[in-house]
Amino acid sequence: MKYVYLDYAATTPMDPRVIEEFGLQMRENYGNSSSLHDIGQKAAKTLLKSRRTIASLIGAPRDDIIFTSSGTEADNLAILGVANKHKKRGNHIISTAIEHHAVEKTCEFLEKQGFKVTYLPVDNQGLIDLKLLEESITDNTILISIMFANNEIGTIEPIRDIGRIAKKYDVIFHTDAVQAVGKIPINVEELHIDLLSASAHKLYGPKGVGMLYTRNKGNREGWGKILEPIMHGGGHERDLRPSTMNVPAIAAFAKAAEIAKNEMPEEIVRETKLRDKIIKTILHNIDESYLNGHPTSRLPNNINLGFKYVEGESIVLDLDAMGIGTSTGSACSSKSLDPSHVLLAIGLNPQDAHGSLRVSLGRFTTEEEVDYFLKHIPLVIKRLRKISPLYKKIKEK
Ligand SMILES: *Cc1c(COP(=O)(O)O)cnc(C)c1O
Repeated sequence: MKYVYLDYAATTPMDPRVIEEFGLQMRENYGNSSSLHDIGQKAAKTLLKSRRTIASLIGAPRDDIIFTSSGTEADNLAILGVANKHKKRGNHIISTAIEHHAVEKTCEFLEKQGFKVTYLPVDNQGLIDLKLLEESITDNTILISIMFANNEIGTIEPIRDIGRIAKKYDVIFHTDAVQAVGKIPINVEELHIDLLSASAHKLYGPKGVGMLYTRNKGNREGWGKILEPIMHGGGHERDLRPSTMNVPAIAAFAKAAEIAKNEMPEEIVRETKLRDKIIKTILHNIDESYLNGHPTSRLPNNINLGFKYVEGESIVLDLDAMGIGTSTGSACSSKSLDPSHVLLAIGLNPQDAHGSLRVSLGRFTTEEEVDYFLKHIPLVIKRLRKISPLYKKIKEK
């Protein structure tokens, strides 16, 4: 069996169709989209077309897409950009306790600059409390930043209700949708989203390219009413994000978006089936295992399981030795020894938070791979529990 990659939430392999487009664009579309000559205008045309394709994946107007170098940069631009633009109006931001570091650390940075941030707690399935959100809004609130779907536990937040509340109080609403774009249907109009971050490498596109959907508040200069740039340079991207456009990567991003849109309905059904097979089989076959995150308001490709008395790191390493790639949670925290802030936020104790395994599926995951994983995971847990002092102590009681 070829290596079984079950870590699509960390990053996805590029789709071969995207690689083909990427190669073609790199070879043939090398112009600077700001140049007046033919080669530049060809790049500018590709840029327009790509913008339209990506916008249509989230139901946005073409010109409201601002390309960035990553999901992280999009999150920074949204949060710092709104904070700087509206600091005279207020200094309060509402976010959650389970955000990706790209949002969490940016909010913490702003706290050092004098901003006040409310980190909404979540329930034990990872959902925020809408009543608490509404109660947290003050006259000073300038931004609500709540992720669309969590990267560790897969919980999908009640985005439509959050958008409705943000609109009611006229507060700008940003959502980090990096895990959701291309996986589940999103329409920024229906959901009242003002700013939305996405990243190509989470939907079978290249790494190092992302975007921030930025609602136009009114007229030609409307994008500048919602945020300020965080980098300074040329006038690219409506004066909000300078630097020469990475046209080949953006065209590849667009190809990835087009494929995702076309294949989404079937892919949701297919992945959900595999996801639920894994959850059901493991909970049935392995004692003292449990599901983290929401059972139904959940990304079709995310599984996060807790196994008592064992370390998540050890499970990941054992599975790797068997040719299976998984994760303990976020790729960013996998090198630190602190338990995941997301698992603590859903109420796990630090010890249990260390015993979790994230399995994330994708377009190239087959039933055969799922069965291979399901065959090996009980063996790994059994072996690790046998050598676990904790397990021994409890079972000897
Ligand atoms: C991966 C991820 C990011 C960061 O995107 P990059 O393009 O890797 O910078 C941000 N938020 C979430 C929820 C993610 O999963």
